[in-house]
Amino acid sequence: MEQDNSTAKLGAAASRRKRINRIKIAIIVLIILCLILPTIISIFLFIRVNTLQEQIDVLMIDKYGVTYNELINKNHEEVAHAAVVSENLNQEQDIDTIDNDTIDNDTSGSDINHSNTNDSKTSPEDPRINQDGSQVTDNEFTGTSVANDFLNQLDFKIDKESMKTKKVYLTFDDGPSKFTGDILDILAKYNVKATFFVIGKTDEYSKEMYQRIVDEGHTLGIHSYSHVYRTIYNSLEDFDKDFTKLSDLLYDTTGYLPHIYRFPGGSGNDVSKVKISKVIEYLNNKGIVYFDWNVVNGDATGNFPPPEKLYYNVIKGISINNTSIVLMHDTATKENTVESLEPILKTLTEYQTELLPLNEEVTPIQQVIAEQYNK
Ligand code: ZN
Repeated sequence: MEQDNSTAKLGAAASRRKRINRIKIAIIVLIILCLILPTIISIFLFIRVNTLQEQIDVLMIDKYGVTYNELINKNHEEVAHAAVVSENLNQEQDIDTIDNDTIDNDTSGSDINHSNTNDSKTSPEDPRINQDGSQVTDNEFTGTSVANDFLNQLDFKIDKESMKTKKVYLTFDDGPSKFTGDILDILAKYNVKATFFVIGKTDEYSKEMYQRIVDEGHTLGIHSYSHVYRTIYNSLEDFDKDFTKLSDLLYDTTGYLPHIYRFPGGSGNDVSKVKISKVIEYLNNKGIVYFDWNVVNGDATGNFPPPEKLYYNVIKGISINNTSIVLMHDTATKENTVESLEPILKTLTEYQTELLPLNEEVTPIQQVIAEQYNK
């Protein structure tokens, strides 16, 4: 009887051990699963993301000429807006035809007054009064008041005397656009000559703008025909093809052969597949001088800074350099650049700063120095 009892106890103990062992195994399996499953899921997701990334890149390169990573990893002004340029090229085909009708109108008045900072002052029911009591005419008001407003918002002091000794080269990239006429009108109003690094367009309005740039004493520079990095920088042959296509178009249209160039993305870009030194040698041999920049107005960023911010960037940049080559853009989405232009010109002419167009004699500002590749 007692033996039976102890056998039963042993049996119960053994089965409990078995149960405990089973639970142990179950826990170990569970732990292993907990470790392995996320790893498997991670690997799966990693592969999936890469596949999708490749698909995105194919689409991006097709449309914009750069991969998504190239686009987000570069904070370079020019590279950052490559996509926007391509977008504009598509949009402007439609817009340009409409613009032909309105291009002769003087837009320097009404357009410039839409700044957020002085809405109250631009209300038509609120006649603007000079200090001496006379009413301000639209012509006097435009630019002056906005420029003063913007000037008052600066958080640094401008040295009046040093501003007189500075040289400033305003440059507009990526045009012609529907705003080129407005930009030219504003420059004419202040008798300021600037530089336009243009891309290739063959519609009548764009050809008219190439011609106006030349006729009105500005410098016409080459910025590439397509502005698509993948095409331009694929090989020296491709670069030559693109360069020559635009050079020919500009010469055939205006009778003027441009001697200056601006690299899309700047000479320091790292999207170029062909060695940039090879391209520089090519330009040197042709006697073409390329210009990068040392001041940006900031209009290449995607968040469309307001005119007062663009104004601030330009005036600040100019105030700290003896010579400034200012990068701005002339595209369909850069309305704020147009709006900031008159206040900028107003301020700079008031400070008697010298505003000049670029030419091949001007000492260039270059991210990659051309001279080292002279043979
Ligand atoms: Zn550009």
